[in-house]
Amino acid sequence: MQVLKFGGTSVGSAQRIKEVAALIDNGKQKVVVLSAMTGTTNALVEIANYLYKKNLDGANEKIALLEKNYFQVVDELLATEKGKALGIELVKSHFNHLRSFTREPINLYDEKDILAQGELLSTTLMQFYLEEKQIKSHLISALNFMRIDKFGEPDDFYIKENLNREIKQLGESYLIITQGFICRNAYGKIDNLQRGGSDYSATLIGAALEVDEVQIWTDIDGVHTNDPRIVENTHAISELSFDEAAELAYFGAKILHPTCVTPAKIANIPVRIKNTLDPAAPGTLITSNCTKKRVRAIAAKDGITAIKIKSGRMLMAHGFLRKVFEIFEAYKTSIDMITTSEVGVSVSIDDAKFLDEIVDDLKKYGTVDIDSDQVIICVVGDLIADNKGIAASIFNALKEVPLRMISYGGSNHNISVLVKAEYKKTALVALSQNLFND
Ligand code: ASP
Repeated sequence: MQVLKFGGTSVGSAQRIKEVAALIDNGKQKVVVLSAMTGTTNALVEIANYLYKKNLDGANEKIALLEKNYFQVVDELLATEKGKALGIELVKSHFNHLRSFTREPINLYDEKDILAQGELLSTTLMQFYLEEKQIKSHLISALNFMRIDKFGEPDDFYIKENLNREIKQLGESYLIITQGFICRNAYGKIDNLQRGGSDYSATLIGAALEVDEVQIWTDIDGVHTNDPRIVENTHAISELSFDEAAELAYFGAKILHPTCVTPAKIANIPVRIKNTLDPAAPGTLITSNCTKKRVRAIAAKDGITAIKIKSGRMLMAHGFLRKVFEIFEAYKTSIDMITTSEVGVSVSIDDAKFLDEIVDDLKKYGTVDIDSDQVIICVVGDLIADNKGIAASIFNALKEVPLRMISYGGSNHNISVLVKAEYKKTALVALSQNLFND
C-alpha cells in the first residue's frame, strides 16, 4: 500500500483534478490525501478574519466569490446531469455552512471549522468525479481518525486504531480518498495540523498503516539543490536522508512541510517527492539509507530577526543561558540559531510577534541589540567534522558577504550562516557556484 498526497496546485482546477484522478487509477492500492484547491485555505482565512472583525459584508462578499468559483469547478469537472446536481448540492451545503458563521461572532473553534471546508470540498469533488468515471473508490473523513492531543501533537495511537478500523469497514478497498490538514483535537472539535499540514497528514497516515512509500505530489520535480527562483541551473536531488530533508524543510525549502519528516523517519517509510506536471520524472527519494554526499543542497529562510544579549554577568557565570531561554519559552518563541561568546549570546528567531516583550525582559540581563530583516542560509549534506575542508569552501564562497552569525556542529548535516536580506541572492549564487561546480 502507498499514500499519495496531492497539494493545492495539483488539484487547483477541474482539469488538474481530472489529471490527478488519471494518475491515481493505476491498479495499485493506495490512500490519496488531498489539500484544498489552491487559494481556498487563504480565502477561508480571510473570511474568518472578516468575521472576527465583524465585517459581515466583507465576509459575505468573499464567501459568494469563492462559491462562484466552486460552481464553475463543478460545471467543468462533472459531466452528467446527476454529477452536476450532486456537485451543486455539495457546494451549496458547504457555503451555507460558511454563511451560518455570519450570524454570531466567531470563536477559535468556528475558525477551525471554517478552515476545514477547503479539504472537505476538494476530496468530495474528487470522489464524485471518480464515481462518475466508474473508478472504484471510497472517501473516508479525516475527522474520524486524525486527532491531536491537548498539546497539539498527533495522537499516534488513536490515529492508528481508528484509521485501521475505518479501512477495515470498507471491505475490499482499492482507492481511498481522504483529507489532509484537518483533524479533531483532544476535545473532539474540528482542528488542523497547521498551515501546509497536508504533508504531515500523509506521513502520519503512512506510519499508521505501515505503508511501503509515501509520495508527496507537488508542482516541481523534487527538492532542488538551491532555490530555483533565485539561482540558475539548480536541479532536483535524487536522494536525501530523513535528517537532511528535515533540515532543508525547516530552513526554507518550501517543498516539504518541516514536521512531516518525523513520522516517516520513525516508521522508516521512504518519502518520494513527485511532480504532477511531469509524473515520469523520478523526483526526490527520502530514506534512512541513501548514499552520502558532502554537500547536498542549499536553502534559505527569510524573515529572521537576530537578537544579541551582552552581559558582563555572563563571564564565568552558570545559569545565564537558562534565564535567557526561559524568556523565549515564556513567549512561545522558538530559537533557530544560537552563537555564544564569553560576554554575549546571539539568537535568531523567525516569529517576531513578541519581540518587544522579549527585548524588555532580556534587558534585565544585559544590553540588547536587534538586527531585523536577516536570512538564514543553510548548507545541508554529510558535514561531519571528519570531512575536512567543507567549512573552508563555504566561507571562501561567502568572502564578499558580511556574516552576522555562523552555526556549525549542531548536527552532522547543517552549516548555517545569518546574513542581511540584501545579501541573500549573492550568497546563494556564490555557494552554488563554489560547492557544486568543483
Ligand atoms: N490547505 C492547507 C493550507 O493551505 C493545508 C495544505 O495544503 O497542506 O495550508
